Amino acid sequence: MTAYTVSMEHIPPLLELWAKEYDVHVPVRDVDGFVNFSPWRPSAEIAWDYDVAYNSLKRFFLPPREDLLRFDLAASTAEPVMEAPLQLLFGVHPYDVKAINQLDQLMDQGTADVNYRKRREATVLVALTPEHVSDLAFWSSVGADSVDIGFDMYFTRISPSSFYVEVLSPKGEELLLARGELPRSTLPEREAAKRKKAAIRAKADKNGISFPWKQTPKLMSRHWDSPLWRNKARHCLSCGSCVMVCPTCYCFDVREEADLDLKGGRRFREWDGCMLPSFALVAGDHNFRPEARDRYRHRYFRKGKYIFDKIGELGCVGCGRCVNACTTGIANPMAVFNDLWEADNHES
Ligand code: SF4
Ligand code: SF4
Repeated sequence: MTAYTVSMEHIPPLLELWAKEYDVHVPVRDVDGFVNFSPWRPSAEIAWDYDVAYNSLKRFFLPPREDLLRFDLAASTAEPVMEAPLQLLFGVHPYDVKAINQLDQLMDQGTADVNYRKRREATVLVALTPEHVSDLAFWSSVGADSVDIGFDMYFTRISPSSFYVEVLSPKGEELLLARGELPRSTLPEREAAKRKKAAIRAKADKNGISFPWKQTPKLMSRHWDSPLWRNKARHCLSCGSCVMVCPTCYCFDVREEADLDLKGGRRFREWDGCMLPSFALVAGDHNFRPEARDRYRHRYFRKGKYIFDKIGELGCVGCGRCVNACTTGIANPMAVFNDLWEADNHES
């Protein structure tokens, strides 16, 4: 992989240039201290040291609500809608790139999701090595501490005023060199970047699941009838916050509506989530996961087994967003997996 050294002062003019062609989004801290990816402005202060963005990045590929078809009711015709603005996400942490890589695979399975694919293809991803680890994160223990595909450029800060930048795609290289040639990184700079990545991984290693993550699917299979599901789900408010903030949850509902003048209408999709009571409601008023316990268990089986069975990775990248979002403190996959693991050890 080719790598260049980029000085801090080179970045604002680069962003300005990119913003002429792309909707550029960067991590920005708001007045309450929450970091989110926001449209870049020359005045934007990039939160270089953020630990996790409150909202995940899936909304850039799977918006919370999106039209799929537009109807002309008078003519009885329908036109597909595919909106895919050119966008550039700057400063994405490896665990979030990993989450997007998972969505890429899952949305391509069966009949490929063309709306998702169009948005993904219109997106440039610029990864960034984290400077800090959230107290709630456990990404290092679920195999999401590094990523080698899915991004166009990967920035690692190697001094207060410079970055080691790996380029993975021709588009990434073209954009990085858009203001002219840059120096190729030297061996010591490459070593500095390696040390930086290793140091943040070591910090992240302090919190995590207490066993090799690849054993999680088998662990789940042993615990379908665990009392843990009911004990924890007793506190569940069925609010759905844990699945809405999750970067790897991708369920949606499809509905249709007519305009008030009945001349047109649309088919749209919007986020849905397996923790919501209406998620499993089907015709005849039958709900195949009527109790909070059923929904709670299902979420963990998705994270710990079902997604693994599809793509060989856990459906959780350990970002900790759900832990932060759950007001009753029961949404933490790390805590649940560790509890089940301990239950096994006590039984043996
Ligand atoms: S389940 Fe929670 S910790 Fe895991 S990826 Fe989703 S939000 Fe992050
Ligand atoms: S686990 Fe927590 S965040 Fe998720 S639905 Fe229940 S109460 Fe809401």
